[in-house]
Amino acid sequence: MQGVDRSMEQGRNPQAARDHNRSLMLRLVRDRGPISRAELARASLLSKPAVTDIVDGLIQHELVRETVKGDAAVGRKPMLLEINREAMWAIGIDLSRDHVDLLITDLMGSVCRFMSRRISFDDEDEGYPERVAKCVTDVIRDSGVPASRIAGIGVGYPMPLSHVRRMIVCDGQMVGWKTVQLKQLIEREFGVPVYLDNDANVAALHERWHGVADSFRDYLFILVGNGVGMGIVLGGAVYRGASGIAGEIGHMSIDPDGPQCLCGSRGCLETLVSVPCLLSEVAQAGGVAEPRTGVQWASPALDDVVGRALAGDPIVTSAVGEMTKRLAVAVTNLVNTFNPEAVVIGGPIARLGDCLMIPFREAMAARAHPLFADKTRLVLSRYSQDAVARGAAMLVVEDFFESPQRYVPELAGTQVNGRFQLS
Ligand SMILES: [Zn+2]
Repeated sequence: MQGVDRSMEQGRNPQAARDHNRSLMLRLVRDRGPISRAELARASLLSKPAVTDIVDGLIQHELVRETVKGDAAVGRKPMLLEINREAMWAIGIDLSRDHVDLLITDLMGSVCRFMSRRISFDDEDEGYPERVAKCVTDVIRDSGVPASRIAGIGVGYPMPLSHVRRMIVCDGQMVGWKTVQLKQLIEREFGVPVYLDNDANVAALHERWHGVADSFRDYLFILVGNGVGMGIVLGGAVYRGASGIAGEIGHMSIDPDGPQCLCGSRGCLETLVSVPCLLSEVAQAGGVAEPRTGVQWASPALDDVVGRALAGDPIVTSAVGEMTKRLAVAVTNLVNTFNPEAVVIGGPIARLGDCLMIPFREAMAARAHPLFADKTRLVLSRYSQDAVARGAAMLVVEDFFESPQRYVPELAGTQVNGRFQLS
């Protein structure tokens, strides 16, 4: 945990110092709460009066609340502080190629409402942003959360959104691609900040905040759903590369003579490893409902395959085993390139649990370089269905804790002890 920067506290910009210290206090209450004012002063290196000033402002604006009393060896028991988790809410959106998932979380990342809608981008690009906006309206209405308490909206999206239509979600223009201007429309419609990021990146960050990667600083998150993506986290931060497309491993060539890919190449990873690919192989071997190209996580076909895998069905077990071998080829190359502490496997494919991870670990062990053998942990995400939407909501929540005055402007102008009032 970072201590306060004394130069900020004593520097020439008192407003910046107050913003910095307020954010520090909020994050300490979030990470260590319930916590007393005295502990906050010790952890932040701020004076007790300074802590009291900031905390009183946070309580006044209902971002922090007093809770049960703590222990004290002697004297009065101190009142402990915790985040008022329902003070503000964040919306997370997972844009997929054939569906949109939305959820609303509180400030501590708990989900109060989840919604999934089938919107196939390959079928209809006209009015797509408007249809997503309608989903946002519906999820707010269904949740019962007051619209005024929505802090912002985060969106995780695949790159590209559609190969067939050469469409991407983008803030600007990219030569040769049609762009879906989602951010501007949703910001205009709902009047809150909208944050866009790649789906694998937001899911990777969510693993660090609330998932299995909380103890890792260098790890790779492999998202396997309709395609394959990767979030690269180095030193605790997402590595995006020079143009923001680092981690687009779906088109890493695994088999030079493999199936034709929509990108024009052959044997790309996502032609050999994906949910539609697994469903197709199981169907060809006999046994399950005809899969479609582009299958959402909740589809009956995937439910069926997961059920059969858990029951030890030999057709499904064999198909999963073959797929994990191909995934292991790609992941071995990535481990040899990045030397991460861990590789997290997530996305809809994670619903297979040990049925996926046991053969995957065996396939990795068979290929591991002696230098890396046993040094890279292979772990499964706990969030198979909603990792991207949760991660997208966390873009908002993290910004809230970083700059709460952006969301509650009154904070910046208030000193409850009345010593001064900022304009
Ligand atoms: Zn390709």
